This record gives sequence, structure tokens and C-alpha cells, in this order.
Amino acid sequence: AEAKRRGKHQWVKFESCLLERLYEREQFKEDFFAAIPSQLCVYYQAQVNQQGELVGAEALVRWIHPQRGLISPALFIPLAEETGMIIPVGLWVLRTACLQLQKWETDPVRQNLTIAVNVSSQEFNEVDYVKQVETLLIETGIRPYKLKLELTESALASDVDAVVEKMRRLKDIGLRFSLDDFGTGFSSLNYLRRMPLNQLKIDQSFVREVTDNASDASIVKTVIALGKGLGLSVIAEGVETAEQKQLLAEFGCDLYQGYFFGRPQPIDEFEEAMTKPEHA
Ligand code: C2E
Ligand code: MG
Ligand code: MG
Ligand code: MG
Repeated sequence: AEAKRRGKHQWVKFESCLLERLYEREQFKEDFFAAIPSQLCVYYQAQVNQQGELVGAEALVRWIHPQRGLISPALFIPLAEETGMIIPVGLWVLRTACLQLQKWETDPVRQNLTIAVNVSSQEFNEVDYVKQVETLLIETGIRPYKLKLELTESALASDVDAVVEKMRRLKDIGLRFSLDDFGTGFSSLNYLRRMPLNQLKIDQSFVREVTDNASDASIVKTVIALGKGLGLSVIAEGVETAEQKQLLAEFGCDLYQGYFFGRPQPIDEFEEAMTKPEHA
């Protein structure tokens, strides 16, 4: 937590530098290019069911900058997308997640855990994306249904038919799909109708005030009912308090992710904190 706060703080400083001295941006790109993959690190955040049992994790990339410390993906992913570097970054994160699932396959306590990986629309739109995923599955021998790809509504902004077709092919192989940040896009319901999904992920902006704000509560309750009605599992992100979890459970939410259950952590700490026998 401290490291994250420190990282954020340093970035704010860095960002103000960006405004003052534009060439810093070029430096950033250069630094970032050099950082793949040696300075990148995958953190894992727990996903739990109604009983509080661990069912899996979301993989969240971090950039550990040698001078600037931990840099949040919220800050470097947009630049990675802009520069096309999201392609090698995304593939590296996906490979790391698959290798982790491979390790867990032989671990009796962890062999059923899933990993969710965020996929930018640019990555997903790569012509050989399905092939890349297949190659990773063959390389690692993991059971495909343990890998969940998180797409956002923006993935459909370009060519809906092409995206849906690709999703179908990957689903045929056994992969799962979650629609991340649900409710924050432009045309959520239209996309929902067309995408072959397994899961809806309620954006944390709706969860934040769910216990205090009647409109947010009403939206969350309705979204959960909608997801269930479509036969999807529903997960809430950004759950920070027991009260939020309780209310979401009353609304019928299946899964939970947020600081209340655990922060994103390096793999060793994640395993230590989350999969001790009393949690597993
Ligand atoms: P996201 O996929 O919606 O991930 C959830 C974000 O919420 C994460 O931020 C997580 O650390 C944060 N979070 C989790 N629980 C709580 C909570 O209880 N309270 C609050 N306030 N925040 C919480 P993070 O790790 O900074 O990632 C930000 C975004 O960067 C992600 O949002 C995702 O869109 C993107 N991202 C992260 N890793 C990758 C990656 O490997 N590939 C791609 N394409 N995008 C990534
Ligand atoms: Mg996500
Ligand atoms: Mg999200
Ligand atoms: Mg989000």
C-alpha cells in the first residue's frame, strides 16, 4: 500500500514534469521500451465468492521503475496503447499468467484457481491473437477455462462482428470472458446483447457509494439482476468494506474483488496471504 502511494506520488511529480518539459515524454517512451519485460511485474488481486472463499485472481501489471519506483498501469497503459507497446506488454502479462496457472496445476491447494487478464482492444484486434493464445495454452498445458480474459466495452468500438467472432473462437477453445468496468461505456446494453460473455464486472465507481447513495444502489441491484437474467456470473470490483459486501450479497452478487479482501500483491505475498489452508 505504502509502495503504491509512493509510486503514485512520484508519478504526480513526473506528470507535472511532463507538462513543463515535453521531451520527458520521449524519455518515458524510451524508458518504457527498455522496461519490457525486465522491469514489469504482475500483481495478483483476490477474487472471492459469497462465503469469502478464494476462487481466483486478477493479474494487474506494475512497472517497477529503477529510479521512480512503482508506476501504476492507469498511467502507463494509455501510453503503451498509444505507442503500440501494449502488444508486447499484453502478451508478456498473458504468458506470465499462464505460467502461474501451470505452476498451480500441480498444487493441490491452488489447482482450481482462475486468473483474469486485462486485454486492450488493440491486442484483441491483432490478426493472430487467437493463434497467440492457442500457442500459450499448448506451451503451458493449462486447462483453458481457468484463464479469463477481461475486455472493456471499448473493445467493441471498432468492428463488433469481428470481435464477437474472435470471442466465439476463443470460447470454443474453452476460455472465459468477463466484461470489465461494466456501465462506464457508451452503449453497454447493446454490447451486452451481442457479446458471448461469461461474466459481468461491475465498475468500482458504482460500488464506491453503494451503501450511501440510493441511485447507485439501485443501479447495482439492477445490473446484478440483469447479469443473472442473462445467465452470467456477476463480480463487483472495488469492494472496500464489509457493508458493501453485505449489500452486494443481498442483491445476489456472485463474486467480489477489492481491498476488503486483499490488495493487488506480488505472487509470493498473494499466495501467502490468500491461500493458507483457512482461506482455501
Ligand atoms: P481494472 O482492470 O478495472 O482493475 C481494477 C483496478 O482497481 C486496479 O487498479 C486495482 O488495483 C484497483 N482496485 C482493486 N480493488 C480496489 C479497491 O477496493 N478500491 C480501489 N479504489 N481500487 C481498487 P490498477 O492495478 O492500478 O489497474 C488500473 C487499470 O489498468 C486496470 O483497471 C486495467 O484497466 C489496466 N491494467 C492493469 N493491468 C493491465 C494489463 O496487464 N493489461 C492491460 N491492457 N491493462 C491493464
Ligand atoms: Mg480488469
Ligand atoms: Mg475493472
Ligand atoms: Mg476499473
